[in-house]
Amino acid sequence: MSAIASNHSGEGKSFTSLVADTGDVGEAPSRSLVEELALANHILFREGVVDGFGHVSVRHDKRPDRFLLARNMAPALVTPDDIVEFDFDGNPVNAKGRTVYLERFIHAEVFRARPDVMAVVHSHSPAVVPFSVVKSSPLRPICHMSGFLGEEVPNFEIRDHAGDSSDLLITNSRLGAALAKKLGGCNCALMRGHGSTCVGPTLREAVFRAVYTEVNARLQSEAMRLGEPTFLTEGEARVSAGNISSQINRAWDFWRMRAEGKL
Ligand code: MN
Repeated sequence: MSAIASNHSGEGKSFTSLVADTGDVGEAPSRSLVEELALANHILFREGVVDGFGHVSVRHDKRPDRFLLARNMAPALVTPDDIVEFDFDGNPVNAKGRTVYLERFIHAEVFRARPDVMAVVHSHSPAVVPFSVVKSSPLRPICHMSGFLGEEVPNFEIRDHAGDSSDLLITNSRLGAALAKKLGGCNCALMRGHGSTCVGPTLREAVFRAVYTEVNARLQSEAMRLGEPTFLTEGEARVSAGNISSQINRAWDFWRMRAEGKL
């Protein structure tokens, strides 16, 4: 185990994903939460949000200062046994020698900054990335299903924090905190040349938002090919987001069946 370094949250030594456990194991999360997190991984893959990369986390239901995230692996392959518990410094509690995601600091710092957030999805979903690199075309809600995007989606520029020769990844607590600050009170933040991070008050709502962030990006690109789109107003975005929020289980039940290959 000598290859396992003690802590990789510091600057300049984060290019490994084999990190020692803190060993501070407390009460286990609910089995149903762990199972739902595994399912969320499968849904995000099936709905085109994640591929071999990207990840989803949920806040620990017994320890609000901890979160659950899969070990370093493709989301489609995650099982409940692959879920690892982390603290807000990005240190695993029970990885037991398994590698962890380099970008776990996205989740750690968003959970630290946002007590209202119960789940976080980070992805490189392909229709969203163009909006992160064209300043004149900010991602905005174009239909009632994506009112949660608000008036405009913040876009995180990592050069402001890591210079112009970084790998664009959020590989330490400082960068994670900068991203969380850019996210502010919003539900989604773009990451220039990289992807996006969506949050929600439940795991299901965070997944819903990640799916519809990608859908909105596709629709917005299509609309812009035709001409100048009419976006939702701030009021339309707010009211439609409130109403759609109560309908999420309808989508979830369908996505579950599809992810399980039953449709
Ligand atoms: Mn990433």
